[in-house]
Amino acid sequence: MIGTVTLVGAGPGDKGLLTMAGAQAIAQADAVVYDRLVREDILDLIPPRAEKISVGKENNHHPVPQPEINETLVRLAREGKNVVRLKGGDCFLFGRGGEECEHLLQNGVPFRVIPGVTSALAAPAFAGIPVTHRDFTSSVHIITAHARAGKPLTIDFDSLVRLDGTLVFLMGLTALEQVTDGLLRAGMQSDMPAAVIENGARGTQRKVVSVLSQLAAHVRAKGLQSPALIIVGRVCSLSDALDWFTPLPLHGKTIVVTRPKARAGTLADKLRAHGANVIEAPCIETVEREDTQPLADALQQPHDWAVFTSPAGVPAAVDALRRLGRDLRALYGMKIAAIGKGTAAALAAYGLTADLVPAQYDGEHLADALIDAMPQGGSALLLRAMQGGQILPEKLARMGIRVTDVPLYDTVHRCDKADALRGLLADGKIDAVTFTSVSTVEGFREAVGGTEDAAFTVFCIGAQTAEAAKKYYQNVEIAKNATIEDLLTCIEEEI
Ligand code: SAH
Repeated sequence: MIGTVTLVGAGPGDKGLLTMAGAQAIAQADAVVYDRLVREDILDLIPPRAEKISVGKENNHHPVPQPEINETLVRLAREGKNVVRLKGGDCFLFGRGGEECEHLLQNGVPFRVIPGVTSALAAPAFAGIPVTHRDFTSSVHIITAHARAGKPLTIDFDSLVRLDGTLVFLMGLTALEQVTDGLLRAGMQSDMPAAVIENGARGTQRKVVSVLSQLAAHVRAKGLQSPALIIVGRVCSLSDALDWFTPLPLHGKTIVVTRPKARAGTLADKLRAHGANVIEAPCIETVEREDTQPLADALQQPHDWAVFTSPAGVPAAVDALRRLGRDLRALYGMKIAAIGKGTAAALAAYGLTADLVPAQYDGEHLADALIDAMPQGGSALLLRAMQGGQILPEKLARMGIRVTDVPLYDTVHRCDKADALRGLLADGKIDAVTFTSVSTVEGFREAVGGTEDAAFTVFCIGAQTAEAAKKYYQNVEIAKNATIEDLLTCIEEEI
C-alpha cells in the first residue's frame, strides 16, 4: 500500500514551538526528510527505527536539488512508508511546500499539511515587536528578499512604501543594503524604525534595532548572520520596551545537559524557560540487565528495606520482576527508601509511596537515614545500577546491616552528539555543562576528551558528582541541595 507524506512545519526554534500535531506525526513516522533549519532537539524526536534523510545544506554544502527531494518523497511513499517532510517555520511560507504537494498530487501520493509557527511572526515576537499594533499599523507583509541566482531583486518598493504596514523580509541578510536603499529611494522616511533578528526565537537570538538609514551599518558592525530576517515599520520602536526574552536570566548562555534522554526533559525545559540555549547531549544510557538471577536469589531472603538510588532503578525493578513472572508485590512487607525526590516520583508513578527520603539526596545521607531507621540493625535490598557507588553499602555494612546489592541495570557511557560537542567546545561556544551523577561526568569526559583549560563552568548535583568533576575541571559549582531547582538557582547565580 502506498504511504502518506505529511508536511510538517517545525517552527522557528526549539521543540517548544513545534505543534502537538507535528510532534505526533514525527512520532509515527517511518521516514523523515528534513531541512537544514530544523533544530537538533526536534530531530531527537524522530523514533530510532525511522529513516532520517537530510536534504539541507550543512551535510554536503549544497542543498539537494528540489526535483531530487520531490522524487525522494514519492519513492519513500511508494515503499509504503509514513513519510514526514519536516521544514523550518511554516511549510508553505517560502518553503517550496506547494511545489512538493503538486508533485505528490501528480504522482498519486496522498499528503497532509501540518502548518508550523513561522519565523516571520515568531522572531519579532521574541524580539518584543508586535507585528501589528493599533497605534502604528494595521497590516503586515511578508516578502522574500532572495533574488534568483545572478538576478537583481525584483521587489516593487514603491508599492511596499505605499502600504504603510509592517514589512518582514525573509532571506534578506545578504541583500540588506539593497532592501534599505530600495525603500529609501521609494520615499520611506530615513528614520523609520527597523530591525534585524538573527536566530529568532532561539536561545542564541541576537537583534539589532535601528532606523532604516543606519540599519545595514549597525548590522554589519555587529556581524549578524543567517538565519536572520529584516523587519521595517514603526512597531520596531517598541522592541526595547517590550523585550521580554533578552532579560531572561540565562539568555545568551549555551548550556549542555548530559543526563540520559528519559531524564533530561525537566532540566532542559526549565533551562529553556529561563532563556538558555540548551544542548541535550545525553552522555550515559541505562541498559537493563538480562540476568534476573541475583534478584530471584535476593527475594529468597526477607529484607526490611527496599532501597532505590535512582529513578531508572524503578522501571528496571518492575521489568526484572515481570521477567521473573512476578510484580511489585514481591516487595511486600518491606519499607521503601528513595535517594531523592525524582526517585520518589518514579515510585509514585507505580503507586508506591517512599517511606524514607533523606534530607540531602546522596548516597552518604541515604545511608545515614537508613542507619537511623534501623537502630537495632536490619537488612537492606539495594535495587540499583551495576556501577553504583560503594559508599552506601559499605556504610550500612559497617553498622551491621545486612546488605544485598542487586544490579538491575548498567550505566554505559554513550554520546551520540560527541562530534557536535567537540566542535562547539573548540569554538568556545559552551558556557556551562551540567552533571547530575558521577557517570555523566565520566561519560562526557569520554565523549569530548581532555579539556582541562575548558572555558565553561561545570554545575553539579551531589557531592560525589562534584568530586568526580573536580578531577577534570577547575570551575566546578555544586547545587546547595541535590535538586533540579537548586541546580537552576546555582546556575543563575554563578554563570
Ligand atoms: N518556512 C520558513 C522560512 C523559510 S525561508 C518559515 O516559515 O520560517 C528561510 C528564511 O527564513 C531565512 O533566510 C530567514 O530569513 C528566515 N528564518 C528562518 N528561521 C529563522 C529564525 N529562527 N530567525 C530569523 N529568521 C529566520
